[in-house]
Amino acid sequence: MAQLDIVRIPVLSDNYVWLVHDPESSETMVVDPAVADPVLAEADARGWTITAIWNTHWHPDHTGGNAAIKAKTGCEIIVPAAERERIPSADRSVAGGDHVQLGAHVADVWDVPAHTAGHIAYHFADDGAIFVGDTMFAMGCGRLFEGTAEQMFANMQRLGTLDDATRVYCAHEYTLSNARFAVTVDPGNDALAARLAEVEAARAAGEATVPTTIGAERATNPFLRAPSAAELGRIRALKDAA
Ligand code: ZN
Ligand code: FE
Repeated sequence: MAQLDIVRIPVLSDNYVWLVHDPESSETMVVDPAVADPVLAEADARGWTITAIWNTHWHPDHTGGNAAIKAKTGCEIIVPAAERERIPSADRSVAGGDHVQLGAHVADVWDVPAHTAGHIAYHFADDGAIFVGDTMFAMGCGRLFEGTAEQMFANMQRLGTLDDATRVYCAHEYTLSNARFAVTVDPGNDALAARLAEVEAARAAGEATVPTTIGAERATNPFLRAPSAAELGRIRALKDAA
């Protein structure tokens, strides 16, 4: 199987939309299009036609481009079943345990409630890639808008079962803020201190810092490293107040 081409499209103030193309089938899908125009332009420039949109959750900065991309391309919109009524452009609902495909590439759907109640992630096990929306960020996790620390802890534990090399495609460039916070709750972590320095340099040079990897997160992400739901909840509350 040929490798997926995965393109990062920065939009709004800090969102990343991921454009994913399978060269064998020529299918192209978009994860969480916040807006339509830059996504359509990127696909056009590459000679790709968008065939599907895969949403991780209902927030407008993840679904705002759905209707316009569908109007232009006729693509199918796949959404989390539990949030279907909040995503009016939906065509197909999926939930944990379902499989979705881009050509011959199969993604397992994970239920990852916490940031929103019906949040899902898409794991391409054979490709070593997972699209996590606003569940995990580089050195961070999503805010607990519609769920609990227990749920987010379970999400982190499950992500922690993946191989170190698994690439984690999150939906925001929150890395520098997360790193600066992470060093305050894990001050003795040398890998974290080193990563903060790298991220400061990358951001100063205008570079993106994602995708990240499970290995990097295992070493530096205080939410993935939290030993309990209570500890995850404690540091999430500290970050919210920061
Ligand atoms: Zn969100
Ligand atoms: Fe978001």
